[in-house]
Amino acid sequence: VRSWWGWGNRDSVVDPAGAARLVGPYLPLDGEITPIPGVPELRPPRVTPPSGDIWSDDPWQRAAHTHGKAFRDVVRNLRGELANPPDLVCFPRGEADVVQILEWAYQSGVAVVPFGGGTSVVGGVELRDPDQTFVSLDLTGMDTILEVDEVSLAMRSQAGILGPSIQDGLRPKGLALRHFPQSFEFSTLGGWIATRSGGHFATGPTHIDDFIESLRVITPVGISESLRVPASGAGPSPDRLFLGSEGALGIITEAWVRVQRAPAFRASASVRFEDLGHSVLATREVAQSGLMPSNCRLLDPLEAMLAAGVTDGAAVLLLAFESADHPVEVALERAVEICRGHGGIRLEQRAQASWRDSFLKAPYLRDALARLGVVIETFETACTWSAFPTLHEAVLAAVNPAIVTCRFTHVYPDGPAPYFTVYATARRGAEIETWDELKARASEALLANGGTITHHHAVGRDHVPWYLRQTPQPLRQMLRAAKAAIDPRHLLNPGVLGID
Ligand SMILES: Cc1cc2nc3c(=O)[nH]c(=O)nc-3n(C[C@H](O)[C@H](O)[C@H](O)COP(=O)(O)OP(=O)(O)OC[C@H]3O[C@@H](n4cnc5c(N)ncnc54)[C@H](O)[C@@H]3O)c2cc1C
Repeated sequence: VRSWWGWGNRDSVVDPAGAARLVGPYLPLDGEITPIPGVPELRPPRVTPPSGDIWSDDPWQRAAHTHGKAFRDVVRNLRGELANPPDLVCFPRGEADVVQILEWAYQSGVAVVPFGGGTSVVGGVELRDPDQTFVSLDLTGMDTILEVDEVSLAMRSQAGILGPSIQDGLRPKGLALRHFPQSFEFSTLGGWIATRSGGHFATGPTHIDDFIESLRVITPVGISESLRVPASGAGPSPDRLFLGSEGALGIITEAWVRVQRAPAFRASASVRFEDLGHSVLATREVAQSGLMPSNCRLLDPLEAMLAAGVTDGAAVLLLAFESADHPVEVALERAVEICRGHGGIRLEQRAQASWRDSFLKAPYLRDALARLGVVIETFETACTWSAFPTLHEAVLAAVNPAIVTCRFTHVYPDGPAPYFTVYATARRGAEIETWDELKARASEALLANGGTITHHHAVGRDHVPWYLRQTPQPLRQMLRAAKAAIDPRHLLNPGVLGID
């Protein structure tokens, strides 16, 4: 059973007492534990749905569709602050339902917020105008793999399918979609496309963009379906505008995605470095070597201690290679050799396994810490290798005195994608304000030092001020024009991307 207020499954909740033992030595705690909340009383629905059994005004459903899954969402849920719940939730069973819902919404002036897994961390599924009636359009009933082209290695699927169902559907054919965001278990193909999500492979095809062959999108002015081809130079790509459109330009109902033969060869190693500077140089050389490791995750010393059990103050680079076609030991050995050239020493201990385990448990732990009153949240960016040292220092200074860890989630020949986790204490009741202040300071530091406001968490509503500043003005005009042409009444997820 899913949790309405926090991450994942109700049964997997982490005991805050255990979490307190973990962070107690580093952060002062007041010993209070916020209880798991019941569904609070919600504002009554302000719209009457058309007849049909796809609509729900059930309070649990409305509560579960009010916020995404960021720290500030969890804290508001814990406090019972659900100021603007959807008036209704609807569960289309197929494209015909989606078309009807949009027609009804357009006639009634009701906004539509598409909802995949609801794992947005940027306010993407939360409408913030209290005067605008709206429905949450939950696509998880549209979860069927419709076709697999084993010759061309591609799959056609409905957009509401969750990560594990894709895996289960492809496994018997020896195939896999090489896309594993940390939220994989609870997020959907459509959500990944709408947010341009990043998978956890460090190099090579890993963003959902890399896998899209064609898209089918329902818009208020008609259905858009792109040609299924491996590549096309015919003008601007029709899929480009929908990738990252966050529900503001249409409802993605289906996609053809590229799949791969499941890997048969794997090899991995962890390498320790005395200091972060040398580990960054080594990681850059690996990223520029053409070796294309599947994992190339650099953990700074604090992250290595908290997430990989390496407690001697070393920075750690987790390296892994995989292939469906050929052994990968030679590639791994060469990557380790590059690291050695920068003072890296191969670790015997299983840092890789500890890291994977804590990676999967992290969101549950975050909720437990939120119940203890700890401010814990992440933000991420990408920058060039030349910009990284200054950006890193500026971010640390910006969030001081909070505790902050840094890892690289992805590395490219021209730069890394640094991912920061912040731990801080706040006065009870001021956790969100404390986080918002830290986040604003960090965001300023990112933009001032050559970073993007997000590498893979999307724009949503929370990143709009910085997104608008980093985006060229003609593009903003084009996006606003596209929105006006496709959604003239501005009823599709109004507020995201700042283009209304
Ligand atoms: C613990 C945790 C870990 C995460 N790890 C990662 C990660 O590794 N990589 C990463 O990229 N992100 C990550 N995220 C962020 C989030 O999981 C991604 O943005 C994900 O792609 C959202 O998918 P979803 O199905 O949950 O979409 P939702 O959260 O439901 O929606 C996200 C946005 O897309 C729109 N949308 C959803 N479905 C559709 C559709 N079919 N058509 C049109 N618009 C739609 C929504 O309106 C909203 O604006 C993480 C989040 C959490 C909480």
